[in-house]
Amino acid sequence: MDEFELIARYFSRDGGAGVVLGVGDDGAVLELPADRRLVAVVDTLVDGVHYPAHFAAADVGYRAVAVNLSDIAAMGAEPAWMTLALTLPAVDTEWLAGFADGLYRAAGEHGVALVGGDTTRGAQTVISVQLLGHAAPAGVLTRSGCRPGDLLYVSGTLGEAAAGLESLQGGRDEVALEARFRRPVPRVALGRAVAGIAGAAIDVSDGLAADLGHVLAASGCGATLELERLPLSATLVAARGEERARALALTGGDDYELCLAVPAAAEEAFLAAARDCDTPVTRIGRARAEAGLVLTQNGEAVASPQGGYRHFAATGPQP
Ligand code: ADP
Ligand code: MG
Repeated sequence: MDEFELIARYFSRDGGAGVVLGVGDDGAVLELPADRRLVAVVDTLVDGVHYPAHFAAADVGYRAVAVNLSDIAAMGAEPAWMTLALTLPAVDTEWLAGFADGLYRAAGEHGVALVGGDTTRGAQTVISVQLLGHAAPAGVLTRSGCRPGDLLYVSGTLGEAAAGLESLQGGRDEVALEARFRRPVPRVALGRAVAGIAGAAIDVSDGLAADLGHVLAASGCGATLELERLPLSATLVAARGEERARALALTGGDDYELCLAVPAAAEEAFLAAARDCDTPVTRIGRARAEAGLVLTQNGEAVASPQGGYRHFAATGPQP
């Protein structure tokens, strides 16, 4: 099968809203809705680096789109189109069929159309998805909008994906935790609902401490994080115990929840917006003027557990 047959067979399903010209020409032509700004994100998955080597093809396809949707969510944007740059060592039709199914499933859940791409042969599988979305000019969420006094919120629960990856790599067979790593749930509805209400946002891909650190650095402030407030699932606590669960919640990656800074005056509107899109959110701390992240447990400052929070070390003094 040559490149053109492969594209025709697996990556040429029908277009969507705003697609003037999709797969098949030298470029895609897309029409933005009136008074919207283009928001562009791209994320690459490398076989064996961003997912384990034996990961199911459909999960790879799903994940490649979901991690990009999470970035779009963190911008408060509405996803619309994507392109796919695919490098493969060989044409494996069974893998391609599974991959395309997972890819189109994640895209279909959010009304995203595949409008183009590039297909090449290379030493290992590398998948780059570029996602294009749009937002109202005033409604974009950035990392730099957190202010002292803002309330810090996080969606969903944290730490399960990291535990799921441990299970996948260690053959533990903890199916519920593994599902959280296999099929990230991007918080697209929440991002859109709180755009214009929250002051800043980031998606939690590298771990809460690290990603919150990016927000604080971009915003030029610090924060207090109340560890006892970190949202932990009952499944994670049962599988790992509370202390390990909390450490995973703070430093484990791949959760793809949103961490948001909310001005105190906007808290009611924020909570109503989250309720409207059925997304649980938990208040976990508060921003402050002094740089650095202070961790507290039941009101007492606590030190970082050994080996943890290393991403965070650069952004301020440890308590
Ligand atoms: P060109 O050589 O002009 O860059 P290509 O042969 O790379 O064109 O691609 C032909 C068409 O197929 C283009 O519209 C391109 O966007 C699309 N395409 C190529 N690879 C993919 C892919 N993996 N998924 C979706 N569309 C693709
Ligand atoms: Mg090309």
